[in-house]
Amino acid sequence: MEIDIATIGGYEEVGRQMTAVRAGDDIVIFDMGLNLSKVLIHDNVETERMHSLDLIDMGAIPDDRVMSDLEGDVQAIVPTHGHLDHIGAISKLAHRYDAPIVASPYTIELVKQQIEGEQKFGVDNDLQKMEAGEMLEIGDSGNVQLEFVNVTHSIIDAINPVVHTPEGAIVYGLDKRMDHTPVIGDPIDMDRFREIGREGNGVLAYIEDCTNAGRKGRTPSESTARGHLKDVMGSIEDYDGGIVATTFSSHIARVSSLVEFAKDMGRQPVLLGRSMEKYSGTAERLGFVDFPDDVGMYGHRKSVDRTFKRIMNEGKENFLPIVTGHQGEPRAMLTRMGRGETPYQLDEGDKVLFSARVIPEPTNEGQRYQSEKLLGMQGARIYDDIHVSGHLREEGHYQMLDALEPQNVIPAHQDMKGFAPYVDLAAKKGYTLGRDLHVTRNGNIINLVE
Ligand SMILES: [Zn+2]
Repeated sequence: MEIDIATIGGYEEVGRQMTAVRAGDDIVIFDMGLNLSKVLIHDNVETERMHSLDLIDMGAIPDDRVMSDLEGDVQAIVPTHGHLDHIGAISKLAHRYDAPIVASPYTIELVKQQIEGEQKFGVDNDLQKMEAGEMLEIGDSGNVQLEFVNVTHSIIDAINPVVHTPEGAIVYGLDKRMDHTPVIGDPIDMDRFREIGREGNGVLAYIEDCTNAGRKGRTPSESTARGHLKDVMGSIEDYDGGIVATTFSSHIARVSSLVEFAKDMGRQPVLLGRSMEKYSGTAERLGFVDFPDDVGMYGHRKSVDRTFKRIMNEGKENFLPIVTGHQGEPRAMLTRMGRGETPYQLDEGDKVLFSARVIPEPTNEGQRYQSEKLLGMQGARIYDDIHVSGHLREEGHYQMLDALEPQNVIPAHQDMKGFAPYVDLAAKKGYTLGRDLHVTRNGNIINLVE
């Protein structure tokens, strides 16, 4: 069976991920992501109304025109998890393919909401839920199956999809960390990865997320971030003024730890901001979390401002607002609080907790610097970096190569500079650049079996 892998997006950047695997006549697409930084750098760009080709020209979504060079039928579009760099282009590209979107329940729900917000294209692909551990027949050959393996990441319900072919398995490894004690959901299924590495013809190719490949050691578990947060919040338990926290709104495990510790401190947690309401509301509706009844969630500007007024009237010491703005985004809630644009008034000594790391990119670094300065001018004390990454570091990558023993490795989810440490690591495991270690760029096709 002929096997090709098309590296469409996310091979020159972190963002706009998209990869396709052709096994004989059948094609499976993994991810259709958005590179948000390419959108945000322009003022007031509303992607909802934009055409795909304009977004491709901006470098915001994958240039999928290389798909016409793959001979076969697309049988499924498979986003691995709900982060925008993996699902954000579905509303712009999926309608060009006559195939269902197959994803885990939480991811499917986020895809559905994104499609509903789309204003340029009518996207009517079937939305099909599939859980980790399940298999799906691909095409009519009877020889190709899709499997979801449970992984752990900074968003719930993440999976790594595997395409089983007579030539071996193709494992798509974006995005994960190796967490054996996650706060929500099951640990990463390393047993299944080891089995896949040893059954049938083994693993033909492993496509890997190289985000943190250059960082030594192991990415700590989410339990570590939870412990760090508990320590910080315990240390300011007696403070009788304002405490505000911010984190990734899609990071449900972290949000739920913040909610729990707020209750322990005797404060009412309130989630504020559109995306806070969206991700947490969806997670609660689908039964992934069960927040206490008095947790407020407010997305719209007016209801947010009304809530801030209520907090000021009833006393800041009784509340813990959990808000958007961990990267200092100019329009996010925390930045507006720093500029004094909300009814919430910060006083000398009030605490601001960043349960996030600055994404190392000049725009983020600049915006976050500005936000912290503005908060500081109002007297706020900053607690930052209460966080662990969602991506594997060096030893996690080493363990994955041990578990899967892939015949070919394809680094992804980085630029050339970011691939370098992974290439070093893979070389130490015996892989050779150009032979079985394929460093590539966007828009290429790697022919694995002729
Ligand atoms: Zn991700």
